Amino acid sequence: MCGIVAYKGKKNCYPILINGLKKLEYRGYDSAGIACISGKGNITISKRSGKVKQLEETLKKNNVHKKCTGTGIAHTRWATHGRPNQVNSHPHNDQSGSIVLVHNGIIENYDPIKKFLKSKNIKFKSETDTEVLVQLIGYFYNKGKLTFEQSVRAALQRVDGAYAIVVLNKNEPDKMIAARKGSPLVLGINEEEFFVGSDISPIINYTQQIIYLEESQMAIIGEKDYEIKSIEKDISLPKVVEKIDYKIDDYDKGKFKFFMHKEIHEQVDTISNTIIGRTKGHNVLLNGLMEYWSQIESASKIYITACGTSWHAGLIGKNLIERFSEVPVHVEYASEFRYNKILVDNDSVVIAISQSGETADTLAAIKKANDYGAITIGICNVPGSSISRETDCGVFTRCGHEVGVASTKAFTAQISILYLFALKLAYVKKQISKSAMKAHLDFASSVTKVKSILRKENYIKKIASKYKNASDFLYLGRGLNFPVALEGALKLKEISYIHAEGYPAAEMKHGPIALVDKNMPNVFIVPKDKTYDKIISNIEEIKSRKGKIIIITDSKEKVLKDLANDLIVVPKTNHYMFCILATIVLQLFAYYIAVGKKLNVDQPRNLAKSVTVE
Ligand code: GLU
Repeated sequence: MCGIVAYKGKKNCYPILINGLKKLEYRGYDSAGIACISGKGNITISKRSGKVKQLEETLKKNNVHKKCTGTGIAHTRWATHGRPNQVNSHPHNDQSGSIVLVHNGIIENYDPIKKFLKSKNIKFKSETDTEVLVQLIGYFYNKGKLTFEQSVRAALQRVDGAYAIVVLNKNEPDKMIAARKGSPLVLGINEEEFFVGSDISPIINYTQQIIYLEESQMAIIGEKDYEIKSIEKDISLPKVVEKIDYKIDDYDKGKFKFFMHKEIHEQVDTISNTIIGRTKGHNVLLNGLMEYWSQIESASKIYITACGTSWHAGLIGKNLIERFSEVPVHVEYASEFRYNKILVDNDSVVIAISQSGETADTLAAIKKANDYGAITIGICNVPGSSISRETDCGVFTRCGHEVGVASTKAFTAQISILYLFALKLAYVKKQISKSAMKAHLDFASSVTKVKSILRKENYIKKIASKYKNASDFLYLGRGLNFPVALEGALKLKEISYIHAEGYPAAEMKHGPIALVDKNMPNVFIVPKDKTYDKIISNIEEIKSRKGKIIIITDSKEKVLKDLANDLIVVPKTNHYMFCILATIVLQLFAYYIAVGKKLNVDQPRNLAKSVTVE
């Protein structure tokens, strides 16, 4: 799961590649590298472990940036096979040094191919699956019977798994070959210059003429022209060029030290941006779904599929849709959806949620749902992303870029859309009155309460500093707030490396309570609703075992003050908006714990923003 960017043209490729890598760092940041090729066929490869910024510093120090030519390929890695060190970083080259390649994905049958190549006296430098592919291309090419293009095709026909690749050959410096299967790849075309990217972000500021390579397609890019071909057969395919009218600004932290902090604050706007224009009086308008709405409203069941934070949004969506419209909803991790027996048919709706719209598991789940004849709906944040293209219809969260790896504003926007969707479905099914609709929509679009949470920031920071050295946390909530507990625990794990688990508050006594001692903080999410008294009993159960109690509530009752070591009271709203407010408290809580531990909040270890391998 990495980012690929490549350029072929007359300019110095360096600024295009390095700025492109910065835009793609959401896909991985454990190592990065660049290779460029001169007209005479000299290839220079520069790579190192660490982030793109570190690569940039090294390249500047070595004056590589001045020497780069008009053709280059670059990669920012999230290691799947082999440690994130310099040798395993991309680009990789074959033994002869002729072929050089960057790769996103996993070559699943790397082991037998590696054994075969070793039996032919090919020596490997790295531990990666990727090197097997470049060595295989080199093996075919160096036998002398196949052309460069034929060698790439022959190698690709023999590998299993997923790949997006860009390949150069020092003997044919005027040619660049890109190919994809299972991982996305985009081609940008301008006058006598070509761009390749894992998505449009490194390309779109240079050209709006875009080709989304389809499954099993390759692009053969020459000096002035290019061809799209099939990987299976040597046949030319039509060039489907789209004009994408979309600009991507440079990422800017503004007055904030970390993007995550900025993005938590942006929720005042992102929640309302996501809702504004989608409500009118008591009506919900989801234009992106209208073409398929009659099938959506008559579907007998709904599946929601997603990963990580988006999966938590899906659990909240299930609660809302079932509660309002009484349609059964199943929520499946996308990675499970793909391989489990799923009872989806043409009477079902499958909602796929992903911030980036590039999550590999979610994409695979959509493909399966499409194959089964379901109507597929995408909820994602990035126009033009793979998920927005693969689904029948969809709704965008209008959050702008989310750069921090720990998702914040995308999550609350996803919940907002699911809230609108649930209400719309309930209204057309006559399960909810006009006045109730109006009341819900008034709450949904009111952001003053979000502002009041942000005003409590210093108070939350003080509480966080008390707990920053804890080694384990429990997060507990019921109903709609069980997914909020899961999300709070996930935020803490992701950025502070503290072990945390989310549980339904009552389920805690069936096992996790064994963990509780005087050192263990327990975060309870306690709205004043029908489960209130029951949660108070759950708090008592922890308290009597000496656990520390942190309570997030909208109740001012004294009993909570008496029970809590720390109490955070959020303003009164309805049950649905409460879970958004509680989430923002938990985001700030996790953020300040991680800052207190002096960690890199935006790029936590081992993670990537978007998981583009299975
Ligand atoms: N599997 C390759 C590696 O481990 C590529 C991973 C990626 O997509 O970043 O190097």
